[in-house]
Amino acid sequence: MTLDEASDKLRKREVSSQELTEAVFQRVAQTDGIIRSYITLCRDTAIAQAKEADRRLRQGPSASPLLGIPIALKDNLLTQGLRTTCASRILENFIPPYDATAVAKVRSAGAVITGKTNLDEFAMGSSAENSAFFSTRNPWDVERVPGGSSGGSAASVAADQCIAAIGTDTGGSIRQPAAFCGIVGMKPTYGRVSRYGVIAFASSMDQVGPMTKDVRDCALLLETISGHDPSDSTSVKLPVPSYSQSLTGEIAGLRLGIPKEYFTAGLQSAVDEAVINAIRQLEKRGAIIEEISLPHTEYAVAVYYIIATAEASSNLARYDGMRYGQRAVGSDLTETYMLSRAQGLGPEVKRRIMLGTYALSVGYYDAYYLKAQKVRALIHRDFDAAFKHCDAIITPTSPTTAFKISEKIQNPLEMYLSDICTISINLAGVPAISVPCGLDGEGLPIGMQVIGKPFDEATILGIAYAYEQQTEWHRKKPALSAA
Ligand code: GLN
Repeated sequence: MTLDEASDKLRKREVSSQELTEAVFQRVAQTDGIIRSYITLCRDTAIAQAKEADRRLRQGPSASPLLGIPIALKDNLLTQGLRTTCASRILENFIPPYDATAVAKVRSAGAVITGKTNLDEFAMGSSAENSAFFSTRNPWDVERVPGGSSGGSAASVAADQCIAAIGTDTGGSIRQPAAFCGIVGMKPTYGRVSRYGVIAFASSMDQVGPMTKDVRDCALLLETISGHDPSDSTSVKLPVPSYSQSLTGEIAGLRLGIPKEYFTAGLQSAVDEAVINAIRQLEKRGAIIEEISLPHTEYAVAVYYIIATAEASSNLARYDGMRYGQRAVGSDLTETYMLSRAQGLGPEVKRRIMLGTYALSVGYYDAYYLKAQKVRALIHRDFDAAFKHCDAIITPTSPTTAFKISEKIQNPLEMYLSDICTISINLAGVPAISVPCGLDGEGLPIGMQVIGKPFDEATILGIAYAYEQQTEWHRKKPALSAA
């Protein structure tokens, strides 16, 4: 069931939140031994929340469609009283004293929290294999990765282990796993959703967003978590439109740009075909298609891996074994810091702290960090220029479908390239959504990315919805789900 369908049935009292929640946990029991979406499950509190939701539902119609709906949360979102690990040893036993704003919002809407989902440690990765605990498997083919870093959230939605999930996206971590797992995922405009209580990776790019079974659910969840938050000075004071009510399916006359830099040799042919077909469908519905250029695209991955690592090296300085999580015993303070970090942080996290520290160091700052910031501005301007004559931009979400577990883990550069289609969007701060648009020859899902103007989530949701209305891709389920 989608969130919208489940909410409807809850209101009509055809099902109770407790039944729905129990069904979700039954599904988890059947499938999570293999898939491993969840780091922490909270069945008892979930059932209690469901009973409370049923009580509220009995009192009359509720304002929120989330009331009584089982939702999974990526484990880098702070949850008061509920262990939050960020898939790192250093936070293995960390119990946050407060909720992230996005979490507080879904809680006050009456959602049932099923648990905390697996991710690449500190959200650094594209396959969920960098988790310090275990890898999550793709429900469509358990020999393959679910994508990352929000791999656990994506797999949990695809395997029906929740009704919808929340992820975070710094360079593609919502959209790429959404594409790999055949679900919808959106990175909102930077500043649309509060980052308060989101464990920081690269603060100038991190955003929270929905991971759902269809576009309507994405709109419903987005309108719940969005909005200005005095606790996050980068969250923007703008009214939040009613996204779900603006889904008309009407796209005639919209101008859609197709950037030629995204349709290059590196693209898997099935991905290329599926996205081109999807663009034709949009054209049939009256959209105006035009080729455009985003000329600085080729620098995006390099720029991202300077800026993201620089910000990460600063953000992760706080994990020194003193205030948070694991502390190793050294003979003096310096050794205690060093051992705590050496034992508590995994290899990819250390690699990024070293890269970022290097890029920020005296003598290299100008050559790397400052240069990267300048090129970031050029990438940003590419989008500004394109949006002068386009309403939205269409690309693939990922150059390939889900790859095999272990295929790329030994080669960080190759892993970094799997974000080639998503990274520029974070550098520019604009919103983008991934929607299922096909299956490859091996039956693996393909995602189409729709990129929008800043704070114009409504338009890209509308385009994604119009596309979804004409296709069945979002309804396809992995064989596992039929089991
Ligand atoms: N895969 C990218 C990285 O490793 C993006 C991660 C993310 O969006 N959190 O940094």
